[in-house]
Amino acid sequence: MIDGARQTLKQYFGYDSFRPGQERMVSAVLSGEDALGVMPTGAGKSICYQVPALMLRGLTLVISPLVSLMGDQVRALKEIGARPSYLNSSLTPAQQNTVLKRALEGWYQIMYVAPERLSDPRFIEFARSLAGPDGLGLPLIAVDEAHCVSQWGQDFRPSYLGIADFIDDLPQRPVVAAFTATATGRVREDIAEMLRLRSPRSVVTGFDRANLSFNVEEMGDKAKSSWIRDYALAHKDESGIVYCATRKAVDELADELGRVLGPQKIRVARYHAGMCQQDRAAEQSAFIADAAPLMVATNAFGMGIDKPNVRYVIHNNVPESIEAYYQEAGRAGRDGDPAACHLLWNGHDFSLRRFFIEKDVPEDALNPEERAFARQNRYRLLAQMEGYCQTTGCLRAYILRYFGDEGMLGIESSGSATGEGCGNCSNCLTRYEVEDVTAVASSALHLVAATGGRFGKALVADALHGANTEKVRQFGLSGAPGYGSASSVPLKRVKEVLDQLVGRGYLAQSQGRFPVVGLGPRADEALDPYKSDEFAFTVKKRASKSRSASRARRAVDLVREEAALDARPRVGDDAELFEELRDLRRELAEEHQVPAYIICSDATLRGMCRKRPSTREGLLEVSGIGEKKADAYGAAFLAVIADYEAGAR
Ligand code: ADP
Ligand code: ZN
Repeated sequence: MIDGARQTLKQYFGYDSFRPGQERMVSAVLSGEDALGVMPTGAGKSICYQVPALMLRGLTLVISPLVSLMGDQVRALKEIGARPSYLNSSLTPAQQNTVLKRALEGWYQIMYVAPERLSDPRFIEFARSLAGPDGLGLPLIAVDEAHCVSQWGQDFRPSYLGIADFIDDLPQRPVVAAFTATATGRVREDIAEMLRLRSPRSVVTGFDRANLSFNVEEMGDKAKSSWIRDYALAHKDESGIVYCATRKAVDELADELGRVLGPQKIRVARYHAGMCQQDRAAEQSAFIADAAPLMVATNAFGMGIDKPNVRYVIHNNVPESIEAYYQEAGRAGRDGDPAACHLLWNGHDFSLRRFFIEKDVPEDALNPEERAFARQNRYRLLAQMEGYCQTTGCLRAYILRYFGDEGMLGIESSGSATGEGCGNCSNCLTRYEVEDVTAVASSALHLVAATGGRFGKALVADALHGANTEKVRQFGLSGAPGYGSASSVPLKRVKEVLDQLVGRGYLAQSQGRFPVVGLGPRADEALDPYKSDEFAFTVKKRASKSRSASRARRAVDLVREEAALDARPRVGDDAELFEELRDLRRELAEEHQVPAYIICSDATLRGMCRKRPSTREGLLEVSGIGEKKADAYGAAFLAVIADYEAGAR
């Protein structure tokens, strides 16, 4: 069975093998088992239901809330020679009639619908007749964004609650496969329960995105905007997204970038919920079509955006959780080519987030206890984010540990200080020196103990540093033990030591909008007079940093690197050929009125540069070229390659 699936994968999609999680999902579905796939965006979950849909008799239904994406999905499936359809409110009633009629005649293998559709009596009638004894068959229902069924998730949609009843009312129960990228156990349990999955096969996979490099940098607000400006200029032929925490920040940054990049003919798009629907749609399509390579947006942008060639995602502010961060950063590099994720942060970001948590009125439906719980939960998520900003260990390992992806335990234990780790994050590429800060740490603990843990981190740092500020005087801190003991240490360093003391459990920071620092569970190790002799506290200090960390490689660079690895003699320069193939792709895209990536990805163009096929068979060997694409565009690509080789000779 799985052999048949591999053949389908090759024939239609042009890929040689499934990714491990895909294979497990596909074989569950094909053997008639329900399945729950927890996979991040870009892990390749659509293949998990598209391949079975192409193999199974009858029509596969895909339930998705992302109406705007359905057209794209259908277009891409048509391009590879499948028979897809969608049914949503963007179609006129007459068009909807035609789609339903054709579906009953067996025109389609797969149909995308929004969840609301499942309560439409006509649609129920349609599905029942498909699944009935004389029907063509309804073998599989794929539920995308399945976390929308859970009230514990962020994107609860009441219409998702109707899915289980819809399925139960069918004359014959199809296999149900649910997909989500969400991490929390509570939501995963809810999905299985609310969709009434039958002992689903659970597949948690693909959280590692090896092609993404991660970079975290602490800097002031002003430095952030100039950093982003420089970065965008240095990558001006690439597509990127900059996320900001507020609408105001989006407008300010987009204006500023527009002033600098506009004269370079780089259009900067923007997107936030304060704009009218029309403007948002226009900005979004300009970005998707590469007319505006750079998008500055709030987190309102991106849900359901399927743009594979985003080369970088920069966070101008700290997001609310690791989950949110990874989802947004994960919009980079969906084509599998190297891409960079940068998080720029400072203390203001966390104050702002705490402000949001305090200010947001929780759901009306919750009782006071549940509200308190929800708020605690948000603080907990934010604390994990803080840990990510401050860790000196491998950033990738931090994220994977958070998601519970077991596939990557290999890099788990290796800290970057040893030079190991993923080798593709700013911490792994930074050398650290160990510095003994026992004296500062010990004074800090004594000062906090003596003053009863009533003050915030900044004030404690000031006192240790020996500042004579209004607040220091107000609270009489100049008389506290340890006051001024770190006067020769830079204030920033004192704060870092406090952060590390919190991080390692010697101090504890309260939650709330104005957190105070108290003693943590390990404080005794430094304060107990019988043990304190042994107390030692060291921190790692950034020594040097490799530049490659902050640089997403371009497709042309990759072509050169790949060619260098490949010892075979070849005619001409691969990077030159790549540019010619890319031009051809642009022409084909215009001619067929589709975005260039629907024709094929950069990776596929590179494959052509490497393999230099001269026949249709040769072309089919290139990853990403299936039968249909070879028929449609093969001759054009082969001609360019042949011309190039003849001309270069
Ligand atoms: P998701 O739906 O999980 O966001 P997609 O299905 O869009 O992800 O796949 C992400 C990218 O990975 C696409 O460019 C897709 O063509 C590619 N891809 C998926 N499966 C494979 C595979 N088995 N081999 C090679 N590329 C794949
Ligand atoms: Zn790393």
